[in-house]
Amino acid sequence: MTHSRRDALKYLGAGAATYTCAPALATSIARDYTPPLRYFGLKDVRLGDGPFLAAQKLDEKYLLELEPDRMLANFRSNAGLPPRAPVYGGWESVEPWIWIRCHGHTAGHYLTAAACMFETTGDTRFAERVDYMVAELAGCQAKTGGWLTAFPDGVAPLVDSLAGKEFAGVPWYTTHKVLAGLRDAHLHRGSKAALDVWVKFSDWIDKACAGVPEERFQKMLDREHGGMNEVLADLYAITRETRYAHLAQRFSHQSLLRPLSDGLDKLDGLHSNTQIPKVIGFSRIAETMGSIGGTYDEAARFFWKTVAEQRSFATGGHGDVEHFFPKNEFVKHLPSGKTMETCCTHNMMRLTRSLYARDPQVRYFDYFEKALFNGILAAQDPETGMNTYFQSTRPGYVRLYHTPFDSFWCCTGSGIENHARYGESIYAHTDDAL
Ligand SMILES: [Zn+2]
Repeated sequence: MTHSRRDALKYLGAGAATYTCAPALATSIARDYTPPLRYFGLKDVRLGDGPFLAAQKLDEKYLLELEPDRMLANFRSNAGLPPRAPVYGGWESVEPWIWIRCHGHTAGHYLTAAACMFETTGDTRFAERVDYMVAELAGCQAKTGGWLTAFPDGVAPLVDSLAGKEFAGVPWYTTHKVLAGLRDAHLHRGSKAALDVWVKFSDWIDKACAGVPEERFQKMLDREHGGMNEVLADLYAITRETRYAHLAQRFSHQSLLRPLSDGLDKLDGLHSNTQIPKVIGFSRIAETMGSIGGTYDEAARFFWKTVAEQRSFATGGHGDVEHFFPKNEFVKHLPSGKTMETCCTHNMMRLTRSLYARDPQVRYFDYFEKALFNGILAAQDPETGMNTYFQSTRPGYVRLYHTPFDSFWCCTGSGIENHARYGESIYAHTDDAL
């Protein structure tokens, strides 16, 4: 964090004590809004021969090699059910005391990837996997009463974080991945069962968050929490239940939202992939809750402008060792082996899609195209289908790819999604034009 305490207080509503009630809801919450531009569904686009189709084929192969029971093992253990297979290695089974603690995130990414791949290819093997995993998660949920976790200490990290106690790892980051997987199983595979599990988990979260004072809630959001606000805004858009809209706004980190909506770039030194998903959520809140032109929308647009146009390399990637560096320090960071995390590019492209739909300016997709070729297509090993974490700007530097069964980095997760959704942004349409 590079904020001074004074800045932090200012953006928390100053005096912190004054910031004890829920943030004001975006106005006209139930307004129906259709962006001027819509994308075609994955099922409407088929890739022709070329490097994108080749990347998709490699991803298909890897997705079918992964075993759902191994990704679900700890969800079952935590629900008091015997695992059906041993859990995978890497980040799926790091020791409890290690900081990187997002056990279970792969199941969420996998649901998204398999659901998208089903829609992209029509191959029913992906639909069967989605259905199986959703049924297994529903079985776990029947035992837990709503929550779904694969952490070594069960639901404790979520409960402790809300209680204002010390908590381990990034439990809300991981929860976002699971919820996003359920959302995509619903949207891209058409799974009604996935919507039910998504709703039940969100209802559990809603209840668990209910009595938490706002100041403590915002402090909890200082820790990386993915796009919790995004996936709750999405649920609101589908169900029109206002409690999800309220919760999406509670999960919006005010110490990022406030300066961005004032047009202030305070990003130096911040962890990049902690911020981008929050901003995708701001953009979704603007879109789904009728606050176009308001705080959330302004914050999302300003963030995109500063990151895409002032903080990115010529390739469309950004950051060094996962963090934003001062804008006048590009030269210093060029020899680094750890520039341009793939998750960051993946998430900047998701933000770009969202903004472009509301405001179809060519600069959005000029950026998208650069990032797609340099940061996404090139992130995959064209021989094995494995993906990179960083894409170093250092000339001649090696590319390090994940292993099939013992890595499961964040970038493995976003990596398996990337090559299943090449069709989603090629074409878009207005009411009467392509
Ligand atoms: Zn990553």
